[in-house]
Amino acid sequence: MPRKAKILVVEDEAAIRAGLIDVLLYHGFQPDAVEDGQSGLDKALTGKYDLILLDVMLPKLDGFEVCNRIRAADREQAIIMLTAKTSDEDIIQGLQLGADDYVAKPFSVAQLLERIKAVLRRARIGIETAHMLELGDDIQIDTRNLTGQRGQESLAFTRREIDLLQYLSAHSERPVPRDELLSKLWGYAKNLELETRTVDIHIAKLRRKIESNPARPRFLVTVRGAGYRLMPG
Ligand code: CA
Repeated sequence: MPRKAKILVVEDEAAIRAGLIDVLLYHGFQPDAVEDGQSGLDKALTGKYDLILLDVMLPKLDGFEVCNRIRAADREQAIIMLTAKTSDEDIIQGLQLGADDYVAKPFSVAQLLERIKAVLRRARIGIETAHMLELGDDIQIDTRNLTGQRGQESLAFTRREIDLLQYLSAHSERPVPRDELLSKLWGYAKNLELETRTVDIHIAKLRRKIESNPARPRFLVTVRGAGYRLMPG
């Protein structure tokens, strides 16, 4: 079995730090945390972390400086910066210093987890969580084996259903129009009115598997006039 990914949290705000540790533990990662930039740098330079979650405004050394020094020592280290600063200038500065990605505070857990998984995937780290998709508290879907668990119940999916879930999950911040799903997942040209029914049929099948009441979906919702949206939480 693949090992758990080790993640170092560098964050001076105690409540955010504790929250991040809880979320990471719950989702199968192995977190460690420090509260200032210098300790973060020292720990990061041990090279034993798969990913560094790095706040920008930190005591002793700020996050940009920490990022810069980690990069100087280790070009491969995966780094995601957590920041309340969202101006383009800050983002450009951070990316120039070599952060792999950015998450602006306040962030949702689902959004943060997607970024973490994406960065770890790009870093080609064989973590056990990267292929798990979680919905609510009781559904876990193994996107590699096309299987899932809903409470005590076992679920089986088709490749297409999993692709659909993964695409919606990667874009869970917005509803995804059916013609986008058709073009991205089925390779159809857009605006083929007849074919949108294909998407609806797959959505209906998925709802019967993951929703306790498919007629009133909680996870796979219809946004009238806009498409389908996955609400993972
Ligand atoms: Ca801070």
